[in-house]
Amino acid sequence: MTTALFPGTFDPVTNGHLDIIRRGAALFDTLVVGVFASPSKSLLFSTEERVDLLRQAVADLKNVEVKDYNLLTVEFARDVGAKAILRGLRVISDFELESQMAITNRSLAPEIDTVCLMYSQDYQFLSSSIVKEMAKLGGDVSSLVPPHVAIALQNKLRGLNEEEKEKIKIVSLKD
Ligand code: ADP
Repeated sequence: MTTALFPGTFDPVTNGHLDIIRRGAALFDTLVVGVFASPSKSLLFSTEERVDLLRQAVADLKNVEVKDYNLLTVEFARDVGAKAILRGLRVISDFELESQMAITNRSLAPEIDTVCLMYSQDYQFLSSSIVKEMAKLGGDVSSLVPPHVAIALQNKLRGLNEEEKEKIKIVSLKD
């Protein structure tokens, strides 16, 4: 039985993440989706909300589990018995950061390798921050996220004041 960990922020989950999850679930016996609780980027959704939105999105995938974590990714990978860390690659700039993380993680845990899946054409430029920015400006995000995520975005944005909305900005594709 081979388990892989797909770690990320998922603020919120997009169809680009789900594409990687579906393809990863077909490659490994078990895929654990790890929701990092406190990343250095500012978040729109709480950890509980991010986990809940993901769980609903992967409900049909029987070998996928969603868990939150708040420790080093390689330590969490060891805790769940993962032999691989799964990541998605979009643009060339992803490669630089992902390769640095993969090399660092392998030096910390040589028994765990990083497996990167290439983006699917439809989702090449899709990121959580693009979805948030579009939703903030009233754009239609229905082709970018599952329906329950589009609704959660609308509800969340409705509850924000102008100052809080101002904080939602595309800093980079990685956000
Ligand atoms: P992180 O903060 O760890 O980058 P994200 O939630 O932004 O968390 O992304 C998690 C993983 O999903 C990363 O490996 C990222 O490159 C990948 N990913 C995000 N969007 C896409 C996409 N549209 N296509 C392929 N991979 C993606």
